[in-house]
Formats: sequence, structure tokens, C-alpha cells
Amino acid sequence: MEIYEQETKLYKALMHPARLAILDLLRESEACVCHMEATFGYRQAYISQQLMALRDAGLVEDRRDGLNIYYRITRPQIFAVLDAMRNVTGMRPSAARPAPKTCTCPRCVGEPVINAQLLQV
Ligand SMILES: [Zn+2]
Repeated sequence: MEIYEQETKLYKALMHPARLAILDLLRESEACVCHMEATFGYRQAYISQQLMALRDAGLVEDRRDGLNIYYRITRPQIFAVLDAMRNVTGMRPSAARPAPKTCTCPRCVGEPVINAQLLQV
């Protein structure tokens, strides 16, 4: 039964709208918590709570860079699961997510070239 328990742990981590949105955002590249705040309009504590659930499930990891904490995907195979669900629903989130105007993270402020690339994804 252990394999089912492992799978259930992952399904549970996915079973939240905010966590799915975060995974979609991280699919493009790593992002700091402040970028997620600006993108989704959630409070930082709420985002941290969802990130912790994703981290506990082994789906994301964090790294600190100065004042910012960045998150990235550790098991990109999970996107095959998300894509499979979208084949079931027939719905997909819009592919390109423009950088939020209010965000002051390094990705949004200091690296316009990278942002231009992101928008073309
Ligand atoms: Zn940003």
C-alpha cells in the first residue's frame, strides 16, 4: 500500500487552487515569494503556507538570495499530471502571465530581457 500512500501525498499537495496556480507560475522559472504576492494578490503568509505544503510534498525547494526567498520546481514530472487533468477538463490557464506592474522583485525590476523572454513562453 505504500505506493498509494506516496501518490496520495502528492495528490493532496495538488488539491488546492492556489497551489496549482503557484506550480503554473514556477513552470516558467523560479520566483520569489514577493513576485507571487504581486502576481496573485494573496497575502505573504497565505502564500508561504501553500509553499510549505508543496515543499513538504517534495515538489518545490527554496533558496535565499539577500532579502528574497526564491522557489523552484524540484520534480517537473508533476506537470504531466497537471496536463493530464487539463485534458480531462478541456481547460487551460492562459499560457503567458505578464509580470505584475506592482512587483519590485529583481526579476521584474532588474532583468527586463529575461521578462521579455518569459512573456514569449
Ligand atoms: Zn516580480
